[in-house]
Amino acid sequence: MIYLDHNATTPLAPAVIAAMLPVMSGVWANTSSQHGPGQEAKRRLAGARATVARLLGCKPAEVIFTSGATEANHLAVRGLLAGAPANRQRVLFGSVEHAGHLRLARALAAAGVQVDYLPVHPDGTLDLAAAQALIGPDVALVSLMAANNETGVLMPVADVAAWAHAAGAVMHVDATQFIGKQVFDFATCGADAVSLSAHKFQGPKGIGALLLRQGVPLLPQTLGSQERGRRGGTENLPGIVGLAAALEALGDITAQAKRIAALRDRLERGLQAALPDTHVWCQGAARLPGTSCLRFGQLSQEVVLQRLDRLQVAASSGAACSSGGSAPSHVLTAMGVSADEALATVRFSLGAGTTVEDVNYLLRELPPLLAPLLCEDLLSAP
Ligand code: PMP
Repeated sequence: MIYLDHNATTPLAPAVIAAMLPVMSGVWANTSSQHGPGQEAKRRLAGARATVARLLGCKPAEVIFTSGATEANHLAVRGLLAGAPANRQRVLFGSVEHAGHLRLARALAAAGVQVDYLPVHPDGTLDLAAAQALIGPDVALVSLMAANNETGVLMPVADVAAWAHAAGAVMHVDATQFIGKQVFDFATCGADAVSLSAHKFQGPKGIGALLLRQGVPLLPQTLGSQERGRRGGTENLPGIVGLAAALEALGDITAQAKRIAALRDRLERGLQAALPDTHVWCQGAARLPGTSCLRFGQLSQEVVLQRLDRLQVAASSGAACSSGGSAPSHVLTAMGVSADEALATVRFSLGAGTTVEDVNYLLRELPPLLAPLLCEDLLSAP
């Protein structure tokens, strides 16, 4: 099988498994226990926290381990909003945030919070002028993703953070798709809070973190003594050790990004040459290196994914969390794309395991399967 769905999740790196196994079998005591095994677990937790802090450019005390990015996003938005002054209760969300995060936005709005959305241009990039105009003195918090999971488009989080700070608001960034694929440094990124998830960069599922700048007020959403009182619950030590190991195993991110971007470009150009009806969304925008969001004429995503399945290629109709439904992607819809074109869109996401042979295989096998369908499609068009 050729796996081209790395934005949904990634396989565990061998170094991650090697780091986690001895912890699962031998370091199972509670980190809060006073006895020797508990103290050993506590030492391992501190070691993993120090590694994560070193590799992400923050202080160990700025790392709050969570069950993943969804929880980190919720903790950030609900916690920062609760910590904001009473005269600042408006929240701005990116309009193309992850589906789970937009559910939170709608839940807040239903509960009476004033929520507004930062629009995007037709090419998927953030509308900077609109964002600047929306950030006013009543805004408590701006929550914007660093990179979109469907199109790969990078968002100007440093600019938006500067405007948020100038207006007295705090800035949360969902960097779930960014961290591991692009060089990241919390100290200089401009954000006050940053969410991440290990399973997007060859770490385990069910573990992530919220990085929270020291001194920024946040009301915990799960009460307990762990994580300095900011997130209660016995820590997932194997997961945390796995997260740290996955960051360590990333190696030279710049070199890897260059390699993957070259493969992605080869794939897109090859498909466009073989099937001129291929349209790549956001091709001219700054994007994540491995993400390709495209449509073949008006061929429905079901038909394309079925052909890919026949070729033993795993791709996706968009975000894993919203695929399976028949609604057009909210990301493409926010860009002004029609429902028909959105429902014809598929996503390839390349990653560490992707090879030039994988891309060549797809370029050899897919066009002959789709070309006759595209002809039929053209003939049946009104
Ligand atoms: N935000 C973004 C941008 C994502 O792509 C995802 C995962 N699809 C999440 C949040 C949720 O992450 P997790 O699975 O760790 O809850």
